[in-house]
This record gives sequence, structure tokens and C-alpha cells, in this order.
Amino acid sequence: QLSPLAAAAAEEVSSKWKGTSATGGKTKNYIGGEFTESKATKWLEVRDPASQYVVNYVPETTADEFAQASEAAAEAFKTWSQVSIMRRQRVMFELQHLIRQHTDDIAKSIVLEQGKTFADAQGDVGRGLQVVETATAITSTLLGDKLEVTTDMDTYSRRHPLGVTAAITPFNFPAMIVLWSAALATVTGNTLIVKPSERDPGATMIIAELCARAGMPPGVINVVHGSADTVNRVCDDKNIKAISFVGGDNAGKHIFDRATAQGKRVQANLGAKNHCVIMPDANKNLTLNAVAGAAFGAAGQRCMALSVAIFVGESRKWIPELIERAKHLKLSGGFEKGTDLGPVISPQAKERIINLISSVETEGGKILLDGRDAKVAEYPAGNFVGPTVVEVDTTMSAYKNEIFGPVLNIISAETMDDAVEIINKNKYGNGAAIFTNCGATARKFEIQAEPGQIGINVAVPVPLPMFNWSGSKGSFMGDIPFYGKTGLEFYTQRKTTTALWPHADATGTRASVSMPQ
Ligand code: NAD
Repeated sequence: QLSPLAAAAAEEVSSKWKGTSATGGKTKNYIGGEFTESKATKWLEVRDPASQYVVNYVPETTADEFAQASEAAAEAFKTWSQVSIMRRQRVMFELQHLIRQHTDDIAKSIVLEQGKTFADAQGDVGRGLQVVETATAITSTLLGDKLEVTTDMDTYSRRHPLGVTAAITPFNFPAMIVLWSAALATVTGNTLIVKPSERDPGATMIIAELCARAGMPPGVINVVHGSADTVNRVCDDKNIKAISFVGGDNAGKHIFDRATAQGKRVQANLGAKNHCVIMPDANKNLTLNAVAGAAFGAAGQRCMALSVAIFVGESRKWIPELIERAKHLKLSGGFEKGTDLGPVISPQAKERIINLISSVETEGGKILLDGRDAKVAEYPAGNFVGPTVVEVDTTMSAYKNEIFGPVLNIISAETMDDAVEIINKNKYGNGAAIFTNCGATARKFEIQAEPGQIGINVAVPVPLPMFNWSGSKGSFMGDIPFYGKTGLEFYTQRKTTTALWPHADATGTRASVSMPQ
């Protein structure tokens, strides 16, 4: 059963957000401004990862319901795309206010379904809120260009919304990633269908309700549920023009291929293996605290988690101290005070993580700190894996695969150049960090390391939303990245007009057929 703290949170969220069915029953679809119960025959369980208690059931939205969502979004686009930019901006101001007001409710829903700590869940909402806040600047950021190119002739460019768009989101940031699209797709005049992760749809339901309260008319944002079947409907739908996907490699490649083959614009953020390089001249405490936080926070289930630490030269001597810090992190339910890391998302994820840890032994590496048998007395059924540190080389399975759990790989290197070579050989390119006190070393690293998001003495260099998410190589598919200037680019189509308004009537009757210059 639920722990007392989780039960109180479930009770509170379900009574305050009854209409949305964010928790405590059957998750509804949100179509054309109505929360309605699905007629699905297939329902999936949403479980509290700390107890296995079923907190909700989520439908595999039916084909009919999906078609209704698509039609509602297409219909709403006709008017929403014509609404003044000031009004869309005002909706973002309202949404910003409402999210701030209800952050804790969204965060409670996240802890219940996803398992992360309450403070971390507040951060999940907060990082999404920042995108909404940045979207309020739309009246400046969407400004076009105009130039008088010759007498009586102007050329100007502006950006149009695309139409119906869709977001397919992962389990690990159930508020932040939904808000990336909910803000930018709608403020630019598009309508949106969200297909949240089937493991934790509650946050999306509350966000949908807040979008309505903020002034988005029916059909501007819609929520459908399920897994592969619903996702394939998104890929094949005739109304949908663009898809934002965030999640694992397999689903991402499938969605990218299937949807782009049908002419859709797709941006897909995929898996990661983020390395940090620890130089011997780094500030030791700053480095070890930052690395432990970034490796084990959110139980390692962040796409920007640090999963590989490369110790260069003498910095190797700090490994025992890093392990000490990892040992002192508290493993427990996300609502418990003082918890540093909660459970991982599912028993299957736990089993996969444990198998990858075990493979280190069989493949010749060393388990320096072993979290496989971690137990939390108050939560005997939870999917807990304790902080784990393994010494590996780049041929081992634990290094080659994204583990997505609280497991830090350790590698030693002689020089920074050797470390950069390791990083650049890895197929992923989400993020990489260096810890050093030498500006010249940091600068060289920043230029030579291939991943798209670089931290210098910063372990989780997730860009704020005025910049764009710039994961690269195997961590991204598409041409136009998420949020920032490129986010607006993704959700709009440029149109450039050249107009002649002559002062005098034309003279002569002969047409010119050569290319005008
Ligand atoms: P996932 O790929 O299992 O699920 C993501 C979405 O795809 C969900 O909505 C799910 O329903 C759908 N999906 C899953 N399998 C599918 C299939 N076979 N066909 C069609 N759709 C399918 O990912 P997850 O486990 O929810 O999230 C963890 C992954 O997401 C990790 O790999 C992590 O690195 C990645 N991630 C990346 C970023 C980034 O910005 N690069 C951010 C967050 C998470």
C-alpha cells in the first residue's frame, strides 16, 4: 500500500484535481476542452514505484478518440492561429502564474507516479515553468524582418504556425518536457496533441487543466494516452504537421522514420551517456559534490545525468572520497524528508540496471560501491537501487549502454586529450563536463569535445530556455532543436514576401522575360 505521506498526497491531488483524474482512478482523455473517460478496452497500470501500489489506470486511447482529438485540434487551429499575438502572450502570463500557484500539486503527482523526490519534482515543474516564462516574450522573439529593397519595393519575412502539432514525452520529466511543447507550440499559434508517458500521465492532466484556465480555447491543447498504438496514430495522422519526441533510442528512431517518411517535421531527443573529465587541478570539493549529485540525483534517471567520470592523472586519488559521498546519500520514498534518491521507475528497469551492474564483474571490471541489494525498510516493495560506482573500460556493456539508473562508471586516463578521445568515440552527444581550474584546459575541452552541451565546473549543463537544447550525435535526430530560438523555428514556417507598390503607373506594353535583378 501507499506510505502515509504518499496516501495523503494522493488524497489531496485527487480531490483538488478530480475533474482531470490526475490520480486515483482512470486517467481521462482531454479532447476539445473536455475531460472524458476513454472507451478503451486496454488499460495500463500506473504504479507508485516506491510501493507498487496502483495509483491510476491509463487507457490505450481508441482510434475513434484519437480521430476526435485530431479533428478538435484542426478545428481549433482555424481560430487560434488568428488570435492576436498579444492574447496568446497573455495566456502565457496566466499559465505562468497558475503553474507557480499549483507547482506543489503537480510535483506531488510526479512523486506518486514517477518516484523522484519532492524537491526534485518541484525542479521538474520549475524547469518547465522557465520555458513558459520565456514564451511570454513572444511579441519580441517572433518579430520578423523588413527591408526596403528598392524604390517602392519591400521584402519582409514573418513566421506562420504550422497547424496541428504533437508531443510524445518520456517518463523521467513528466512536467518539464510537456511544457517545452505546451508553451512553444501554442504561443506560436499552433494547436497540440500531447501523448504523455503512460507511466506518469498525471502531471500532464493538471497542466492541461491549467492551460484551459489560462485561456486556451477548447482544442488548442489535447491529451491522448497509450503506448505504441497511439504513437503510431500520431505518426500517421493526416492533420499533424510536426512531432516533438523525447525518449529512448528505439522509440525515437521508429517515430522519426515513420513520421518523416510522411512529410512531418520531427525533432527527437534520444538517449545519452554523459561523461565528465576530472582534472587534478580542479577544486576537489566542488567537483566531487557536483559529480555525486549529477550521477545519483533522480536515481540517475535524467538524460543529462553524469554516468561516466574520467579521472585524469592524480585526480584518481579522489575516487575513495567520491565513494564516501555516494554512500551517504539517503535512499527512500520521494515524499520522505531528507531523501536524496528515490526508486527507479519499474521492477523491469531495476532488473535491467542490476544486470548491467553484474556484467561489470563478469566482463572484468570492478564494482567499487554496490547498490544492488539496497533495501529501504519502510518501502520493502520499492524499486530501489543504491548508488553504485563501477570501474570499467570502454568495451564493457555497462559503459556501452545507457543504464538510466544510479550507476557511475569510472575510467582513468593519462591526459585530457585521452579523455576527449574516449568521449568523442562514444555514440552519444548529449552533454559533457570538465572540472578544472585552468582556463586554457577548459577552453580546449570546450572546443574539442563533441557533445552538444558542455559544462565547465558545471555537472548538469542543461541550457536555460533562452538558449536551445543542443544535444547532438546519437542523442538527437532532426534538424531543429528544442526550445530557445530554434524552438520557435521548429513550430513555425517562414514566409518571405516581396511587394511592389508603385507610385506611378507603368508605361510601355512589352513584357520583360529576363530574370529580374
Ligand atoms: P521511452 O522511449 O520508453 O518512451 C518515450 C515515449 O515513447 C513514451 O511516450 C512512450 O509511450 C513512447 N514509446 C515507447 N516505446 C515505444 C514504441 N515501441 N513505439 C512507439 N512509441 C513508444 O523512454 P522513457 O523510458 O520514457 O524515457 C527514458 C529515455 O528518454 C532515456 O533514454 C533518456 O535518455 C531519454 N530522454 C532523453 C532526453 C533528452 O533530452 N535527450 C530527455 C529525457 C529523456
